[in-house]
Amino acid sequence: MMYRQPVLKNRRTLLERAEKFISDVYFTDCNLRGRLYGDSCPLESLASFLSSKRIPFTEAAKQNFAPHKVGDTFGPTWWTCWFKVSLKIPESWRGKEVHLLWESDGEAMVWRDGQPVQGLTKEGEKTSYILSECLKDEEPHSITLYVEVACNGLFGAGQGSMIAAPDPNRKFSVQKAQLVVFNRDVQEVLTDFEMLVDIVKELGEGEQRGYQALFTVNEMVNLCDPSDPRSFSKARSLAHSFFSQRNGESQHTAHAMGHCHIDSAWLWPYEETIRKCGRSWVTVIRLMEKNPEFVFTCSQAQQFQWVQSWYPGLFSQIQDYVKKGRFIPVGGTWVEMDGNLPSGESMVRQFLEGQRFFNHEFGIVCKEFWLPDTFGYSAQLPQIMQGSGVSNFLTQKLSWNLVNTFPHNTFFWEGLDGSKVLTHFPPGNSYEMKGKVEDLVKTVKNNKDKGRANHSAVLFGFGDGGGGPTQLMLDRLERVQDTDGLPKVQASTPDKLFSQLRADSALLCTWTGELFLELHNGTYTTQAQIKRGNRRCETLLHDIEIAGSLALCRDGTFQYPAEQLQKLWRLLLLNQFHDVIPGSCIEMVVEDALRYYEDIQSDGAKLLKEACGALGSKGNAAGVFNSLPWERQEVIQIQDGAGEPAVALVRVPSIGLSRVEDTQPVTPVSVTKQADGSVLMENGILKMVINKDGTLASLHLINANREAISNGCHGNQFVMFDDVPLYWDAWDVMDYHLQTRKPVLEVVQPIHVVSSGGLRSSVSFTLRISDKSTIKQEIVMDAMCPYIKFNTEVQWAESHKFLKVEFPVRVRSPNATYEIQFGHLQRPTHRNTSWDWARFEVWGHKWADLSEHNFGVALLNDCKYGYSVHENTMTLSLLRAPKAPDANADMGTHHFTYAIMPHAGSFQEASVIQSAYNLNFPLRSIQCSPNTIPWSAFSVSSAAIILETIKQAEDRKRALVLRLYESHGSSVTTTLCTTLPVREAWHCDLLERHDPTQPAHMTSEGITLTFSPFQIVSLLLIL
Ligand SMILES: [Zn+2]
Repeated sequence: MMYRQPVLKNRRTLLERAEKFISDVYFTDCNLRGRLYGDSCPLESLASFLSSKRIPFTEAAKQNFAPHKVGDTFGPTWWTCWFKVSLKIPESWRGKEVHLLWESDGEAMVWRDGQPVQGLTKEGEKTSYILSECLKDEEPHSITLYVEVACNGLFGAGQGSMIAAPDPNRKFSVQKAQLVVFNRDVQEVLTDFEMLVDIVKELGEGEQRGYQALFTVNEMVNLCDPSDPRSFSKARSLAHSFFSQRNGESQHTAHAMGHCHIDSAWLWPYEETIRKCGRSWVTVIRLMEKNPEFVFTCSQAQQFQWVQSWYPGLFSQIQDYVKKGRFIPVGGTWVEMDGNLPSGESMVRQFLEGQRFFNHEFGIVCKEFWLPDTFGYSAQLPQIMQGSGVSNFLTQKLSWNLVNTFPHNTFFWEGLDGSKVLTHFPPGNSYEMKGKVEDLVKTVKNNKDKGRANHSAVLFGFGDGGGGPTQLMLDRLERVQDTDGLPKVQASTPDKLFSQLRADSALLCTWTGELFLELHNGTYTTQAQIKRGNRRCETLLHDIEIAGSLALCRDGTFQYPAEQLQKLWRLLLLNQFHDVIPGSCIEMVVEDALRYYEDIQSDGAKLLKEACGALGSKGNAAGVFNSLPWERQEVIQIQDGAGEPAVALVRVPSIGLSRVEDTQPVTPVSVTKQADGSVLMENGILKMVINKDGTLASLHLINANREAISNGCHGNQFVMFDDVPLYWDAWDVMDYHLQTRKPVLEVVQPIHVVSSGGLRSSVSFTLRISDKSTIKQEIVMDAMCPYIKFNTEVQWAESHKFLKVEFPVRVRSPNATYEIQFGHLQRPTHRNTSWDWARFEVWGHKWADLSEHNFGVALLNDCKYGYSVHENTMTLSLLRAPKAPDANADMGTHHFTYAIMPHAGSFQEASVIQSAYNLNFPLRSIQCSPNTIPWSAFSVSSAAIILETIKQAEDRKRALVLRLYESHGSSVTTTLCTTLPVREAWHCDLLERHDPTQPAHMTSEGITLTFSPFQIVSLLLIL
């Protein structure tokens, strides 16, 4: 390069000179930025119509629009203001690029000729709608557009801070609406400048390449006269020669993919998300038309389905670009769900519904799971992915860890059963990069697998609230495809990236077990009603599918409710989105989510009734249906002859039904009130002493002669903590909250006996938490039952408090066990290392267990997910009271049940897993014919194998899909017995695709199955 004269090596003045030359704040009267726009011209007219609802265009266009002045305010929050924009482009602008410049609050969509054409948001750096790239005389000059402005920003409408509850009365305005001449040549040279200035800054003083950029950009200022566009080309060619100085062969490659993370609901309701998808994706299509290299990755089948029904024209354009391989559906799931809380079967359904949708609409099956933004990842995900046709995984959230830095960016992730998936965390630590030099430099510098992995993803585009990529981001990346000092940049696809990574994966490391996020651990507990809705609906759909499948076989006229079930499943899966089930959403979303759960429960109850009716041959005798794969003998609530509530002890075979025939227990439950006010209860298995305040003084396992409660301690101790996190209120509980522990001691009503029958006995008591909150609890002991139930009602009106219940137990073990999806895992009970103490609050599903050799205690629950076991104290997290983003989170009345189960032997031998299922899946009362004999459809010979799911096959009417898993962590060969007329049995994957070379092994006893630890097996049974 030739410079006009030697320059002083004064980095600061030269750099700042270049920065001021493109500043949008300083010297815009004489700098280059000030020349970006040429002439402007007002609109012919602007008129508006305000709507409280989100209405379709056709309805909006029919309304009466009133004149609107720029600067007039409109609102409030969540309303929509439609604008009718009439404009006339001056003929004298021929040959110019003409934009409608629109700067307003809120998120806008431009409609033209009845079609959505462009999203506009100031926050997402989109304020221009291009009317003409080069105005010609024959183009229309008089145009009418509509602009639909949603009264919410990209991040909702938080008052004060982003995550604060929305301000319901926010006012909005349009600040600029006019026609302008856009000087594309100025924009191009500005982008050259910006990239070079950023290279100077990012490479710093340690690298000579930074100085080369500095002198180049300084010379460009010398050459460039803002008032004379003819001078730009010299500056541009100088920039071009810098950008085209190429890298050596060893340089890292950044795989640039456009992306737009759209939370399916978060700081805005579901309904707004539909419009966010429309605005973001139509903008992507506009960019694709202009940039033939541009590739966009897009997840969440649900969002595609929304766009399909709300914006059919846009959807068909998307389909065209999917065919071209440029608009790429990714992830394979219905939504980007939470990675911890959904059940195993729910996770399977996320993939089943997602992959089937993508296959049906686009003819593709996603090969990667895509979950950049959720709060931890279950150790069963690798197996579920592999079973769903997915062998690659992309996320980055573990970069948010508060304590430990995760040691890899590219590695094999090995799940609970040994399944492995190739996993990539984009080292830029973001799913919404902007194509800036900083993003590229970080991508290389942060890569923890330097020397092992030489390819990384760069996902660019505004995200979380949508928005997506901009032309500027594409222009930036286009300049530095191979620029010495920066990674190589190529427009890429997930497929290309993962193929490259796999091709040179010889040196990659393996991470085994869960990917635990050391942050956001309050999300296992926040919004308790959502958690409860999820668990209840998961169990309900499980039961409907099993009852429906059995009814299908027993009653030739029964129609399996496939369509209705799909509808209900999709609602449940939607609520598992990673800001809904974790409880990190605003109140409006909570209301929607709870309404969806009600819909599932009321529609589901009808479906279950129909299926059970068919199953019981519509008789009029009282019967019981058992949806679990083992025989159960339990006390259930029934109505006696006079219609009064009563209890009965019933025995029902595995996945089957029987009449209610009251049997007598081996040992009835006895209740004795003792002189000191405590109560002694005993059922032949357990003997328990309950103090006046409801705590357990003693819990004795009779046959083993073992006391479960730690010496001098009380079980069932409620405790309160101050719960003030550092920022993310609904999300975070911090380690220091443990120092604020206060037992709940104030007794309002001491224990009194509620029922003292031989089958079921219970006591009840009431505690005061504060002057605003109380706990009322019934402690229930059933005949023949190995656990004690705690039916709990809490009136909760606290602020930044955390309620838990503790069981200090007489067990010593360095590890506790927690149920996860289709299995369990262990976590430490000590705090040796930073990796141990970062897990002070963890998640589990229906049970957690603390065992030493030959004895242990399990803590079961029916709708909770937060646990901690420290030393010998087992704690279940019950309720939180965060104030943002939902100021009323968790206020009100809560019902939940947990249970304590001391046991001899291991938890596997003691049937802890089965007990937790029993607690969650109550026996269902049905009507059956009086001559019904006990009937079982399926049973499994090994207690380690759980037959979790029975459903009608998606693609075949007279066929069932069964899902079983190994739950003990053992290798097992077992027989699945059935009384159903099975003609053929095949192994299939989680997407129900059967392999014609893999028939299941059928014998006269049943189907022989072999399992490795925690293996999931799916079968297709042809009836
Ligand atoms: Zn998100």
